This record gives sequence, C-alpha cells and structure tokens, in this order.
Amino acid sequence: MPRLVVISNRVAVPKARGVAGAQGGLAGALNSALKANGGIWFGWSGQETAEFTGSINYVRSAEGVTTATIDLETQDVDEYYNGYANSTLWPLFHYRIDLTQYEREFGKGYERVNQRFAESALPLIDDGDLVWVHDYHLMPMGERLRSMGVKNRMGFFLHTPWPPTNLFVSLPYHERLVQALLHYDVLGFQNDTWLESFLHYCEKELKADVNRDTGEITLDGRSTIARAYPIGIDYDFFTAKGEEGEARQAQQRLMSSTRHRIAAIGVDRLDYSKGLPERIDGIGRFFDRHPEHVRDFVYIQIAPPSREDIGSYQKIRAILEQKTGQINGARSEVDLVPIRYVNKGHSQAELYGYYRAAKIALVTPLRDGMNLVAKEYVAAQDPEDPGVLILSRFAGAAQQLDCGGKGALLINPHSPDDISHHIKLALDMQLDERKERYTNMIATVRDDNVQRWTENFIADLGGEAA
Ligand code: UDP
Repeated sequence: MPRLVVISNRVAVPKARGVAGAQGGLAGALNSALKANGGIWFGWSGQETAEFTGSINYVRSAEGVTTATIDLETQDVDEYYNGYANSTLWPLFHYRIDLTQYEREFGKGYERVNQRFAESALPLIDDGDLVWVHDYHLMPMGERLRSMGVKNRMGFFLHTPWPPTNLFVSLPYHERLVQALLHYDVLGFQNDTWLESFLHYCEKELKADVNRDTGEITLDGRSTIARAYPIGIDYDFFTAKGEEGEARQAQQRLMSSTRHRIAAIGVDRLDYSKGLPERIDGIGRFFDRHPEHVRDFVYIQIAPPSREDIGSYQKIRAILEQKTGQINGARSEVDLVPIRYVNKGHSQAELYGYYRAAKIALVTPLRDGMNLVAKEYVAAQDPEDPGVLILSRFAGAAQQLDCGGKGALLINPHSPDDISHHIKLALDMQLDERKERYTNMIATVRDDNVQRWTENFIADLGGEAA
C-alpha cells in the first residue's frame, strides 16, 4: 500500500482530536486515513517565529502517525492565514462577497507561504508516495511541487463549498488559482453542487474540455479528474465516545438541568457562515408565535470562538451576544432562561452526551461545505426515541440527510418563519415518524463514514483502498 503524505494548513495528533479548534472536522478525518495507510502529516505548527527558517519539527504519536511541522513568520500568519485564506477565500467560498477582502498583500503572502510549504515538504516526499493536499489554504501547492520536479500522484480536497462562477470571478487572478489546481491528478469536492460550479468555471472561463460523465478536465494537454467525495464522521470512534463516563455525565447534567423542558441544541464554531444570528431570530420568532412553549422549551447554543483576530469574527460574536441577550432579557423569569449561550469548546464525549439529551438539533448554516455536527447528532441518538434534525438546505450534508424528504427537516436558514415553523413541527412529531427519519439518516451516517471517504479518494488517487 503506498504511503500517504498529507499536507494541510494545521496538523493535529490524535490526542488533540475532539478539542474544538481551527481544524473542525478535518483533524479526525485525516488521522483515520494516516492510521490506516501509514505516512506523514505536514503543516504549520501554529507557532510564529521572527524569521522563517524552514526547519522541521517531527513528532511521532502513539498511534503511529508522524507529524512534521514548520513555524511561520508573523507577517505570514497575517497575510496568508488571517489574510488571504480567511478574509479572502473563506468568505468568497461561502458566497459572502460582502465580507471578502481583496488585498494585494494577502495574495502575495499566500503565494509566499505556499512556496515555503512546498520547499519544506519536498524532502518528505519519496517516490511512490501519494500526496494529498487539503483545503483552501493550499490550492497552489500542487503546482509549486510540480515545478520542483515532483512526479508523484497528487490530489487535493476542498472542505468548503466552491462558489458559483459569477461570484468566483470577483477574485483578482482567479484564473491563476484554478490553473494551479489543475496540476493535481484528482480534485475532490464535498458534493455535486460545488463540483458542478467548479466544472462550470473550467468550461466557461478557462475553455477547458470537461467530460461530465467522468469529471475529466483537460487543459493544455494535462488531465485532472474532479469528483464529489462527501466526507463522513468516524462513526465507530464517535459512537464509542457514548460509552464513556464523560458522555453519560454530560447527558445527565443536561437532562437534570432542563427537567420538564424539551432541549434543542446547536453546536457551531462562531463563524458567520453558520447562520447563528438568523437562527436566534428564528427562535425569537418561535417564542413570539408560540408563547405556550416559553416554559417548556430551551435552546442550548454551544459556540466556541474561532479566528478571533479577524474583524468579521469579532463582529459576529458581538451580534450574537446582543441577540441572545435581547431574547433572554425579554423572556426570562427568575427560574427560567430560554437560551443558554455557551461560548467555549467541549470534548466529543461531552458533545455526544448533549446531542443525546437534546430532542431537536438546529444545524442552520447559510452555507457549509458539509457540516459534521449534523451527522454526529444523528449518530448520538437513541434508536428507540430519536430526536429530530432541522438542517439547512445549504449545508453539504443536506444532499445525504434529506433521504427523499424522509430524513432531516430541511429549512431555509435565512427565514426566521421557516425555522420557527420547523421547531414546532419537530416538537409535535410522533415517535413513529421520528424513528422512520432516524432510520433513513443513520444508514448514510454509519455507512458513508470517514473511512469510506478516504478509501474512495485514495482509490482514485491511485493507491489501494485502505
Ligand atoms: N467540535 C468539538 N467541540 C466543540 C464544537 C465542535 O469537538 O465544542 C467538533 C464537532 O464535534 C465537529 C467539528 O468540531 O466534529 C465541527 O465540524 P463541522 O463540519 O460541523 O464544522 P467546521 O467547524 O469544520 O466548519
């Protein structure tokens, strides 16, 4: 089985998994792939240094995964990470051109760091290794490595959405970015919608030959395969968390503190793509429409802070504090607070317990590549008395969890009325319908798991399936 070289912005050793952080659902997925195939995971250490040296820090984890990291300069972090990656590409890829910053310095920093990554990764790549690059931070990596003579099979997976062509062309030098992507052998997207937008761009803007049946894109004599590979959760790992005392205690704690009330839950990094202010508006609307539920419904929002150096993230946090404060101010009694807003991260065992105690989950991003929280919520349910998943139609996960209208309740996350209406539907849903929807959803959550995702991608990349 060929060895795997995974390259992503940050690396996370297994013990760090489940701790909320910048990697979100990525960390667990990649550790599973590396455990199965062996190999090395290369990325930024998260440390800043006065001057870039390129020296590599190696750590070998108990589970046999070797990580290799480099430190970056403060200017790199400002221009590449906080700048081009998270103030240009992230908002643009989540359809937020109103928040997208097009700074020349950000673009230069992005090119410089991709070059530094490629130079540092080069000695780690042996003949025959499969190179798998992740996410929007590192789109030009493949081209950089090719220019240094790397002939290995190389693949790239985008964890975010790919925006429609008419939004993407607002990015200066957009052609350069996509031409660089076409140096990979395999390009992976989370679902057919993002894949289709990408193929459309290649056809219309680059005049590439696109074969819709195979996903083959040909430009200037080079061919690349682009396909959808929906990422899943590590089902066995996650459900095993449910057996731990920490999960049971979390479940008990939530249940005993919400006695006589039905708990709904949301778990999201504090990011403007997650539709949090709109969701809180939807809950406010629900209380306005159904005052009889003010005493028997409680909403718990877990929202660990994220990317706190960026202005748009500071703003979303302030907006959310204000909105939850307003609703709680207006609706609270001495013995009752309708929204519990928890601004910190929790372990996956705790989340399992909270998901299980909550009879409704609200997963309502305005746009999301996949959304693993939706899948984890389903995985944590009691098959004999499952909760209801309310899911944004704009999350990648909606394509899998809709189950022909018999899975999650799909909603428009921009509409407080739609959110309110579906909370009421969920509260009133009878056990047999909840079971039917759960049974449909759990099949895809269990079977289309992260192991299958890596197998499919690696098989197309040219290795044997793990
Ligand atoms: N997560 C966590 N602790 C928290 C909040 C989230 O471990 O307090 C995990 C969550 O279980 C999920 C991931 O972070 O696995 C979030 O992935 P998702 O795809 O939903 O969103 P992302 O943050 O990657 O945009």
